[in-house]
Amino acid sequence: MTGPKGVTGALAGVRGLLLDLDGVLLLAGRPIPGAADAIRALDARRVPYRIVTNTSVWSRPTLSRYSESLGLSIPPSRILSALSVSAAYTREHFDGRPIYVLATDDARIEFDGQRLLSHENAAAPGARAAAGVIGDAPDEANYANLNVAFRLIRGGAQLIGMHRNRWWITPEGPTLDSGAFVAGLEFASGAKAVVLGKPSIAFFAQAARELAAEVAASGGGRSRKRDFAMVGDDLWTDVLAAQRAGLRGVFVLSGKHGREELAKAAAQRRGGGRPDVVAGSLAELVAELD
Ligand SMILES: [Mg+2]
Repeated sequence: MTGPKGVTGALAGVRGLLLDLDGVLLLAGRPIPGAADAIRALDARRVPYRIVTNTSVWSRPTLSRYSESLGLSIPPSRILSALSVSAAYTREHFDGRPIYVLATDDARIEFDGQRLLSHENAAAPGARAAAGVIGDAPDEANYANLNVAFRLIRGGAQLIGMHRNRWWITPEGPTLDSGAFVAGLEFASGAKAVVLGKPSIAFFAQAARELAAEVAASGGGRSRKRDFAMVGDDLWTDVLAAQRAGLRGVFVLSGKHGREELAKAAAQRRGGGRPDVVAGSLAELVAELD
């Protein structure tokens, strides 16, 4: 593990962690070695943490059950997902107004109580919506539904991307993510998407607020964003973005990006940079926390 000020210096005073899911705890549907023990160690030491994930295909309760089946004990309240922040956003901005959500049935649970259009109603001639929300929906993201979203956006619906991820790793290998559909709808409609998951600054800020509240509730007083570190396997979306949001950034090599990305990012003048810490895995990082 490396860091410009040494690992201990780079992590000194860290009071809570944001953990990415894919590439930090799981990879291709299997737990990453040592991840379950690392979570248990954080629980035992009462280090507050949140799982911050751009996963939008499953609701938080389902994600929690799925993690449990892989030996990871993560209650829904510890999860902040691109899906859950998108549902919170539409609840705040479009309450009571029709919205079109391209997502799985399970993901739609997060929008409970909101006015969601069915695919049929959204496709009806003259249909209008306040927002078109795009998430991972392997079966629903077909031409017909994307065209429905396109028409609603042309008609004035706000285009919302739960995230803009390009790809991820599944048991079948590198897999197209829904960022391509968000980018495609932007391209076709001319609208600019509001993107709510990582790397949005607002997403990290919300997660840091939750950690700060937990620290304060346990008598730890006030904390700053620098007191928290984001641990991720995507150098740009997780690590450098969290650093831009004011948190510390830890890059782990257990996921989809490797050391070549570090050199690429360090050489990049815009949008580049270096993580505060590079670790082999979450297990290695937690072992170094003081
Ligand atoms: Mg990841």
